[in-house]
Amino acid sequence: MLAAQSTIKNRTDGAATTCQTYARSLNEGGPKIGQVRERAINILNEVIPFRRVASSHTCSVSPCPSCLEPHLPSIIDALEQARPITFVLPAFPGKSPNKAKVLGVLPDMAERRSLEFLAQLCERIQKFHAPGARIILCSDGRVFSDVVGIREDDVSAYQQELSQIIDELALTSISTFNLEDVFAQGDFVQMREALMSQFGVSLEELKEKIRKGGDSSAALNEQEATQMYRGITRFLFEDSVYEGQLKSRTALQKESRNKAYEVIRRSNAWSELIAARFPGAIRLSIHPQICSSKKLGIRLISNESWMTPWHGVAVETDEGYILMKRAEAEALGAQLIYSSQGRPSHYKLSGHLSLVAERSSR
Ligand SMILES: [Zn+2]
Repeated sequence: MLAAQSTIKNRTDGAATTCQTYARSLNEGGPKIGQVRERAINILNEVIPFRRVASSHTCSVSPCPSCLEPHLPSIIDALEQARPITFVLPAFPGKSPNKAKVLGVLPDMAERRSLEFLAQLCERIQKFHAPGARIILCSDGRVFSDVVGIREDDVSAYQQELSQIIDELALTSISTFNLEDVFAQGDFVQMREALMSQFGVSLEELKEKIRKGGDSSAALNEQEATQMYRGITRFLFEDSVYEGQLKSRTALQKESRNKAYEVIRRSNAWSELIAARFPGAIRLSIHPQICSSKKLGIRLISNESWMTPWHGVAVETDEGYILMKRAEAEALGAQLIYSSQGRPSHYKLSGHLSLVAERSSR
């Protein structure tokens, strides 16, 4: 209760109505319901330090009640039914095709650290709720591999290796879910067609939503669509800028914007399918989220604010691992470390994490 009360007190930007409603709802139904909500808030507060919030938002410093509210019903249900709290995370699509960013097509130390971090989040929750939590990684690689330029075979190999790492590290709270788990018939092209015909929206509809979302007075889902569009365009542009690329930056930017629409159309269809398949799960996202969003933006490594394991390499420093682009690690003179199977695994660099991060961002 203390945490919730202090959060409400800290809120000063005109959310009085929300706070009153929130405080009232804490007490509605008597002390028992209040206690369950309090436990749910405590559980959510274990995840909140690692959330990703849109940087322009006031809630990026400390969460307001509206930041927490969308996620509480799922946690309360799990508490009342004494079952694990379920999170779904569309992520881990496959390694970026840009060799200046990654070490190869297979998961490496970057994914290992991230999987361990996500499993640790589940362990933290278990201290408050004995049935614990589970995170289902809903790999979206198969959903848009043809748009972002990842080979089908590479997606398959990446998925297989990811499952092997989960088994090897005995991360029982982490599991995977792929497009081929839903559509058993046909090839991957047909699976994607089936996904889009059942859950997709038209390109025109999406473009209109993203156009509207650039306005700060736009509806929440429109603003979210625009945020996502900008983030994905940036990833796609970065992935297309590599040594030997003959197209101009302007041409690549235009291409990235067009591809981003299709990636989002596919991602949204995948999200709809996941929501239908896992009702009651909390929807995590690798993208920063705005206040009141039904999605909870999440970091993939505790000390990492934006890089993902599949867009970078793990660099071991004196204070732990950080992620950065392969070219950046090499420019810093980091030493390449191989796995016990003889595959490139990660880099090692002497120095404190903050200094390394500062050097890599120059
Ligand atoms: Zn908020």
